Amino acid sequence: MTFLDLNLHDSLLDGLDAMGFENPTPIQQQAIPYILSKHDLIACAQTGTGKTAAFVLPVINNILEHESRKLSTLIIVPTRELAQQIDQQIEGLAYFTGVSSMAVYGGGDGISWEQQQKALRTGVDVVIATPGRLLAMLTSSGSFDTKYIRYLVLDEADRMLDMGFYDDILRIISFIPKERQTLLFSATMPPRIRTLAQKILNNPKEITIAISKPAEGITQQMCYIADAHKTAFLLGYLNARHDERIIIFASTKDKVKELHRELVKRKVKAQAFHSDLEQPEREELMRAFKNNEIKLLIGTDILSRGIDVDGISLVVNYDVPPDPEDYVHRIGRTARAESKGTSLTLVNGKDFGKFKRIKELTGSHIEELTLPEGMKGDEKKRSIDSRRPSFIKRRK
Ligand code: AMP
Repeated sequence: MTFLDLNLHDSLLDGLDAMGFENPTPIQQQAIPYILSKHDLIACAQTGTGKTAAFVLPVINNILEHESRKLSTLIIVPTRELAQQIDQQIEGLAYFTGVSSMAVYGGGDGISWEQQQKALRTGVDVVIATPGRLLAMLTSSGSFDTKYIRYLVLDEADRMLDMGFYDDILRIISFIPKERQTLLFSATMPPRIRTLAQKILNNPKEITIAISKPAEGITQQMCYIADAHKTAFLLGYLNARHDERIIIFASTKDKVKELHRELVKRKVKAQAFHSDLEQPEREELMRAFKNNEIKLLIGTDILSRGIDVDGISLVVNYDVPPDPEDYVHRIGRTARAESKGTSLTLVNGKDFGKFKRIKELTGSHIEELTLPEGMKGDEKKRSIDSRRPSFIKRRK
């Protein structure tokens, strides 16, 4: 299927072209026709599946079919980061449509309360908002007009409930006209989401995008460890794994470069693979890795997508990947073609929540490794420093 088959406006197709989206992802293939035909929808899909464009494209298409243009769409999201991301994606996809959007959230780094209110009153088509700030605006005097809202999207609904926004969401919805199309996206479907869905959706269509699972042959390991000890721990771990083909993933190219420097300093033969390298350099690294001239590659996620090399026995996540799909992709570089392999994920206090989500969503059994004494003590201290007492409780 191509985007042409989805009957979207030409101006949206131009946006897709400019964004470099060639074909719809599975969630887009399934969700877009339902939303275009004005059904309510409950979709179980996580970040990385293309879920944002799955609602943005058809909602903008629906907006374009109305001649009068007022604030018609409200997207409620758990965090300001997600609000910004969606806003940016709308900016790109709707670039040629004239449809405008705005992210509304609290805190110091956005535009001020007064500016947000003014912009809301002077006409924007789509508002992407976090519940707290939105409710404060709706209940303050001189608030913006919600009476033209026809499309309501709840994104990452499970996360919003985890954050305690259930009542706020219901209150916000009490300001929105009942005549509307409601779309609920959630990575998981616990009973509370079902209850919420029953309250706010009208005869919804339902979509579940299957979550990739790690291959059976991978022994998955992890340890809770402070950043300061990661390299030392890794060196010890690698020591016991001579002559194996190994990939280490880190989240940014700067981290890749730093880790590469550290390992080389300690006489570990490793090469770094990241987006600063020219294409011929990347190809040369890949060739050398395939031919066993290089045993250890350190890279960002660009390494996880294309790499087609068998016989990798160990994949290390130097930090926790952004979402479960990336985790499955990364560790899937080992244990290919029925073989066996190991993955190791280093989890600091800050990444604990992300890791828990990966574990739940992939349904993986992940063995916890015990750390040497010295590292453990500091780990607890650091996790206190990083304000995650729940992290310590779980470790007892
Ligand atoms: P999401 O799941 O919405 O967070 O999207 C994950 C990533 O996939 C984002 O970086 C999008 O820009 C990208 N993306 C979404 N849809 C497509 C598509 N049809 N083709 C290529 N990339 C896409």
